Amino acid sequence: MKCVICGIEINSIEESIDQGWVPYFYEAEIECGPACPECSGTLIQMGKDGEMELKEQYQGKIEYKENFLYETSEEECLIGIAIENSIQSILN
Ligand SMILES: [Zn+2]
Repeated sequence: MKCVICGIEINSIEESIDQGWVPYFYEAEIECGPACPECSGTLIQMGKDGEMELKEQYQGKIEYKENFLYETSEEECLIGIAIENSIQSILN
């Protein structure tokens, strides 16, 4: 999978979890992702509703490399879900 912000790629789910990739985040109401730890650390924050979201000052300013909504393969979708589940289990 590929960071939608900087385009860096990672091949292993385990590695992406270890490194703290964010499987998806919201810009306004639009779901985007995934994002690598470097991008998410700078650009993404936990929103009031508990969802990861793009910081307000960056909204509308990010030029995404890929759009999760339109170019999601089934495999990437499964990776996203796997990461999400791992994050949930860490948080819970
Ligand atoms: Zn990135």
